[in-house]
Amino acid sequence: MNLIEMRDLRCTFTVGGGMFAGSRSLHAVNGVSLAVAKGEVLGLVGESGCGKSTLARMLLGLQPPTGGEILLEGRPLAAHGRLAVARRVQPIFQDPYSSLNPRKTVGAIIGLPLEVHGDEDAAARRRKVEEMMALVGLAPRLYHNYPNQLSGGQRQRVAIARALVRRPEVVVCDEPTSALDVSVQSQILNLLQDLRRELGLTYVFISHNLAVVEHIATRVAVMYLGRIVELAATRELFRAPRHPYTRALLESVLTPEPGLGVPDTHLGAAYPNPIDPPPGCAFHPRCPEAMAHCSSVAPGVSSDSRGEVACHLYVSSLPGSERRAS
Ligand code: SF4
Repeated sequence: MNLIEMRDLRCTFTVGGGMFAGSRSLHAVNGVSLAVAKGEVLGLVGESGCGKSTLARMLLGLQPPTGGEILLEGRPLAAHGRLAVARRVQPIFQDPYSSLNPRKTVGAIIGLPLEVHGDEDAAARRRKVEEMMALVGLAPRLYHNYPNQLSGGQRQRVAIARALVRRPEVVVCDEPTSALDVSVQSQILNLLQDLRRELGLTYVFISHNLAVVEHIATRVAVMYLGRIVELAATRELFRAPRHPYTRALLESVLTPEPGLGVPDTHLGAAYPNPIDPPPGCAFHPRCPEAMAHCSSVAPGVSSDSRGEVACHLYVSSLPGSERRAS
């Protein structure tokens, strides 16, 4: 059984609606279906505004879906209850500094989830915090330090320890290395790999940086304007990307400073306004391979042994299309 399953998941926000303008709908997540197996690292990539962080918030139970559902071990997320979801699914966010209380010590920050949930007595909690600090590579002497006395890498280790102290099963990592120096990024990625093996964790790993995702993910889902446009095993996706958007993202990895900010996708046209997405295939204004019908007919998802792709190039039934060799 899949540990997590998203079925036709949707999240629509209403925006605008002032005195002179009507309200509009923003489909941040627009019909995402994905399954995550136990022990897997599912990478989720795409540019800013593609909906990946909204998806993360829904997985954490922080944002209710407006359509579809999320199943955790076969049961709807809502049926588990908020505390149970928090126990089993934990986040690690991008900026460790803003996610840590500057007035609390390292020990208090890591121990807070144990305290909030009333787990054991103070001595047992302290033992667990110290164990966790050792596991993430934080020296015991840092127990009484404050976040501003730590390096960026140490702060992210504190955030990781806090997320894992109650031993969740799923960790939603939302750009966990993008605020760190390049030299520290690989240390944190290797730590996350080691912890996954040691604690039997499952990761949903969100990033705009394919190079980072290649390092850690077992499968990769590529997201564009709220939809998954390609899903494949990591090696396969990097060996032979199929969707034109995936190919553009991969080229962006080859820019001189990978991992810094939103990648330059070399696509010419800017990322569309999510409130006013293009008709047909939402990628068509930027697609170097767009065909006549791409601007009016939205592509469905084609599945085969290599994964899934949503592009007319892989559907033979439409006029002018030619199914690509797999
Ligand atoms: Fe490009 Fe058409 Fe495929 Fe969209 S459906 S990615 S526009 S070829």
